Amino acid sequence: MRILGNCPFIRSQKCSDSTKRWGDMVFCNVCGSSNLRDFNGRPSAICASCGAVERTRILKTILDATGWIQPGQRVMHLAPEYGIGLFIKNIVGKGYEAFDISPERYPPELNTRLLDLVTGAEKLPSQHYDIVLHSHVMEHLPCNETAVLYHLHRSLKPGGKHIFCIPIHDGHYESDLGNLSGEERTRRFHQHDHIRRFGLADFQNTIGMIFDLKLFDLERLVGATQLRSNAIPEEGWRGVSGHMYYFAEKDDIKLKE
Ligand SMILES: [Zn+2]
Repeated sequence: MRILGNCPFIRSQKCSDSTKRWGDMVFCNVCGSSNLRDFNGRPSAICASCGAVERTRILKTILDATGWIQPGQRVMHLAPEYGIGLFIKNIVGKGYEAFDISPERYPPELNTRLLDLVTGAEKLPSQHYDIVLHSHVMEHLPCNETAVLYHLHRSLKPGGKHIFCIPIHDGHYESDLGNLSGEERTRRFHQHDHIRRFGLADFQNTIGMIFDLKLFDLERLVGATQLRSNAIPEEGWRGVSGHMYYFAEKDDIKLKE
């Protein structure tokens, strides 16, 4: 894995809301609201306006700093976060494509369509998307997630980027496709509808065997003041965590001849 801080794609760092300045106050960099509330014991974790949590604000930080989203791109956004979806759609236009297994759960503006990754991943077109984006999806899939990640990556164009976030816990990977109760899944996988957990102890032997991942150092990318202004907790600033996004470019997949 490689750590990125002085990424060659970094553009000038500026806030998406020109009325806000880093360090003046704490606010959501997805929607501009300063109404951040504690959530599950985490201070200022969730934006009361747009629902962005820490990892959502991390993703927006990365997209703002890198300028990776460009007009005319084709972007696949799975389980789309509302504020991020609007941000991308406003830039790329009709190339924005949102998908979920339950598209009715999403606001109509995102035009989210049905995609069951268990049956649909292998049907995705090859070399089709500039960006494939997903957060906290892999732990929900009742199938082999390596196959899904392979097909999602296959759908990237040459030069495309696969950007994703997976909840990482202490300990080891564990998965069970069987008929477990919600209580059992919560006990073993941290949520009633999780099929698996990913562990820090063997991350290199799971996701790390699929991709030569690139990791971000957000402090080097945008600086500590900006991260604190957006209530991004310090444990999420770098390396592997449940908050953090990774990315793999087209050639970073290891599953090839
Ligand atoms: Zn917000």
